Formats: sequence, structure tokens, C-alpha cells
Amino acid sequence: MRLKSIDVLGFKSFADRIKLDFNDGITAVVGPNGSGKSNVADAVRWVLGEQSTKTLRGAKMEDVIFNGTQTRKSQGVASVSLQIDNQDRTLMVDADEVVITRKLYRSGESEYRINGTQVRLKDINELFMDTGIGRDGYSIIGQGRVSEIVSARSKERREIFEEAAGISRFRYRKTESERRLQQAEENLVRLRDIVAELEARVKPLREQSQKAQKFLELAQEKKSLDVSVWVYNLDELKQKSSQVEDKLLIAQAQFDEAEENATQQEQLFLQEQEKVRETTVLIDEIRLEIEEITRCASESESQIAVLNN
Ligand code: ATP
Repeated sequence: MRLKSIDVLGFKSFADRIKLDFNDGITAVVGPNGSGKSNVADAVRWVLGEQSTKTLRGAKMEDVIFNGTQTRKSQGVASVSLQIDNQDRTLMVDADEVVITRKLYRSGESEYRINGTQVRLKDINELFMDTGIGRDGYSIIGQGRVSEIVSARSKERREIFEEAAGISRFRYRKTESERRLQQAEENLVRLRDIVAELEARVKPLREQSQKAQKFLELAQEKKSLDVSVWVYNLDELKQKSSQVEDKLLIAQAQFDEAEENATQQEQLFLQEQEKVRETTVLIDEIRLEIEEITRCASESESQIAVLNN
């Protein structure tokens, strides 16, 4: 594994994109004080996931974004990419070259990428574990760091040696496993609580379940009884309906007969009425005849009286 180059844009004093190639042998960065030499090392640290603003020589993480000068305005994003030769597959990535990128926006958003794929900081840390160039690796020895190592407490020094010996990956895994174990134990305690609580509810639930079962059976029985009652009622109604239909037929026949009788009686009545009219005419004629006879009789009586005189 070998550091091939670094691409920096908008990081600290690097307003313009710069690309530094690290060729074979030793690469030395030289320049006057304050020209940005340490900023290159900071960029390497930062892209490898450095979270300490103190180590990055700032007050807050936003300070790594180019802050502007008298002649240039500030920028909204800092971006650093590290190209690493991985032909010997030291890094667990199936590629000859691994590109690590970190970006930070002034809004606070940040992103990490490995060969263009967005990843978490945890993935970056795990990738460089035991390689010595991780965030806490011994490969980057900053200003004053040598004396710091010498005077460090034995625990901190041990961490550096562990990283060099390649066992910090196992320490990390052990810590992770212990954390997961702790979590699993907590979950177990919670589950036991839940089980105990559920067990208390089992008895009333069983009773309720039996009741529900009984209810279902009775409901089923009620349903079949309802159906029987409906069928019975339906038969009854059918029977009554056919009786009423029979009665209706008889009544219809009686009605037809009565209607025929009425028609006959009406005809008889008309005939009798005609007879009455004829009789009345006859009576009128007889009355006229009687009047004529009476008049003739009285004339005859007058003539008799005249003749008597
Ligand atoms: P020395 O030789 O004294 O150690 P150096 O070459 O290592 O110096 P650095 O410490 O890398 O220099 O760079 C410091 C410069 O970077 C300062 O001029 C500072 O103004 C500039 N600088 C740091 N942070 C920013 C930023 N966010 N925006 C713009 N410039 C910055």
C-alpha cells in the first residue's frame, strides 16, 4: 500500500484545487512559515476521518473550509481526496487503487466516499484499522507529537504499539463485540420483563379466549337456528299464501256470477220499464176515449133534456 497523491479543494489555505503526487522515495514539502505545509498533513488527517478540531488546529470543524482572504471570498465546501495504491490488497477493497474522499459543506453536511461510493465514518475507520495510517495511526507524526509519545501515559503508548503490531483491529472488534454483548444482555433483560408481563396476562387471556370460543359456537348455533326459523316461517307463509289464492279464486268466481245476475236483472228491469211506458200510453188513450164518451154522453143528456122540454 502506498500513498499516491492527494487532491485538495477549498480546504484551509487551498482555495484552488491542488494535486500533490507522492512519487517513489521521500517527498518533502518546503515553504516559508505560514505557507500551508502543515495544512497538507492536516488534509491527510482530515480525509482519514479526524474528528478533533484541536488536532486540526481549529476551534470548530467549519474552520477547515477556506475562509477567504482580502482578495478572495470564502468557499462553501472543503473537499479532500486521497489516492492510495492498493495492488498488494492491504486495504480490504477489491481494487488496485482506492480513493478516499471527504467533503464538508458550510451548512454542516458532510460525506465520506470510498471509490465514489458514499460510506459512513465507521467504514473509513475500519478500512484503515491496523494499517498504521488511520486517524490514530502512528504514520502521521505531527509537530510536537514525538515528545508527546515519549511523555504519554503507558495506556496511550500501548495504543500506538498495538496499532503498529496490527492488533488494534482485534481490540476494536473485541470492544464492538463487548458492546453488542452488553446490548444483547440489555435486550435479554427487557425481553425477560416482557415475558414476565405477558405471562401474567396469559390466564385472563386464556379465559377470554375460551369465552370467545364459546361465543363463536353459540353464534354458529344461533345462525343455524335462525335459518331454520326463517325456513319454517317461509313454509308457513307459502301455505297461507296458497290458501288466500284459493279463496281469491272462489271470490272471483262468485263476483263474476253476481255480475252476470246483475246484468240480467238490469235487462229485466229495462223490459219492465218499457212495458210500464207502453201501459201508460195505453191508459192515456183510454182516458181520452173516456173523456170523449163522457163528452158525448153529456151532449146526449143535453139533447134529451132539450127534447123533454
Ligand atoms: P509553519 O512553517 O509556521 O509551521 P506552515 O507552512 O505549516 O507554517 P500552516 O500552518 O500549514 O503553515 O498554514 C497556516 C496558514 O493557513 C495560515 O496563513 C492561515 O491563515 C491559513 N489558514 C488556515 N486555515 C484557513 C482557512 N480556513 N481559510 C484560509 N486560510 C487558512
